[in-house]
Amino acid sequence: MSQEKTRAYLGSFFHAPTYGEFEYLENVLIEVDGSGVITRVVTADDSAQQGIIQTHREAGTITELPEGCCGLPGFVDMHVHSCQWPQAALALDEPLYRWLQERTFPLESRFADIEFAHRVYSDLVQQLLARGTTTTVYLGSAHLEATLELARICADAGQRALVGKTVMDDPVANPDYYRDASPTKAIADTETLVREVDGMRPGVPQGVWPVVTPRFIPSCTDEVLFGLGKLAQKYGSYVQTHCNEGQWEHDTVLARCGKEDPYALRDYGLLGPRSIMAHCTFLTPEEGEMFAELGVAVVHCPMANSYFSSSVAPIRRFREQGIHVGIGTDISGGYSPSMYENIRQAVLCSRLLETGVDARRPEAERGYGEARLSILEAFYLATTGGAEALGLQTGAFLPGRAFDMQMVDVSRPYSDLTGFGVFDSPEDRLARILYLSTPDNVRKVYVQGRCVIDKDA
Ligand SMILES: [Zn+2]
Repeated sequence: MSQEKTRAYLGSFFHAPTYGEFEYLENVLIEVDGSGVITRVVTADDSAQQGIIQTHREAGTITELPEGCCGLPGFVDMHVHSCQWPQAALALDEPLYRWLQERTFPLESRFADIEFAHRVYSDLVQQLLARGTTTTVYLGSAHLEATLELARICADAGQRALVGKTVMDDPVANPDYYRDASPTKAIADTETLVREVDGMRPGVPQGVWPVVTPRFIPSCTDEVLFGLGKLAQKYGSYVQTHCNEGQWEHDTVLARCGKEDPYALRDYGLLGPRSIMAHCTFLTPEEGEMFAELGVAVVHCPMANSYFSSSVAPIRRFREQGIHVGIGTDISGGYSPSMYENIRQAVLCSRLLETGVDARRPEAERGYGEARLSILEAFYLATTGGAEALGLQTGAFLPGRAFDMQMVDVSRPYSDLTGFGVFDSPEDRLARILYLSTPDNVRKVYVQGRCVIDKDA
């Protein structure tokens, strides 16, 4: 699948290699080697650019972005329950417990059927790619086979993926029709997943990685949690779980373990530099310091948090504490598969956190204090931030990073983002793309230098 030739992309690109800032690369040439890695970015004022363009034109190895189009880095979605895709947007008025018992578990149990899993997962991967998401961290169902099928689908579709089989073995917390048969079986299945997906990776240019994935402490026995901790350490694997998601989880873990969620997860051996903790809305400053020290990443899921987390995660504080932060759609706790939507919600939720929400309280006591995220900060989290949280070389157009790019056409018939030429600075143009674009504006998507979506083909 890998390409042999060096290729070049000529056009204008936005990216955010530094938190809170953006760069507009106007009329640059991005050169990408045969393995899909950026080797150099040649600017328009570089006297060598014309010669390099000419060479690539003669060799037929140049892609020129059409008029009205620009490139953005592919998004990194750090938290997707792949097996909940058929219930996205449904039953969000229910409390978490009923949502799980009446909707989610019956749905997820259907992924015992590989044919069903194949249909759902194939569609989901294409829908995410088509919205510019080039790297995704997936939680599969509790089934090993269906989760391996998801890894194969991502590998074939060209999406960079981190894939975990959800572990949920506690017979008290989970229904008999849908749970791991025993802690031993859950650990053995996870080990098989780790070995098989690690074995797949050499043949997958964009990469595919296994993730050790306990659903969350309340659905797992101590035996399985300790066992998964050991397994993650043995293989140096990624770990993903829900941490401090909401009041119910927080209180349940405290009552059972006698300590807060983050300390319990640490003591099970589940925290390290490849650990990905979704939500973290209740994370205290002390716990945040521990995360920063251990290199644990937090996934901000602003949509899902609004429905199920009883509060807004203070992302600005996490960043100031030096914690790696990315963004997750959290399908289907969040209803939208679009990282654009989640960037917008990250900004909106941060504003509500800062100002407070109840006008009956005095202004000085209403809000959290400084908590706002700018649209540029959210853009960073969805690209460079997510990539760095996962330790992956992507997220920005820099030499050494994978060429993961979404080509955005700002002048689509029913989604014109040109703004009538009134406010037309690069920053204004980028803000319009981030706030107003629809999936139709994303015309082509590249992962690791390979075009995986072309809506105009
Ligand atoms: Zn989740």
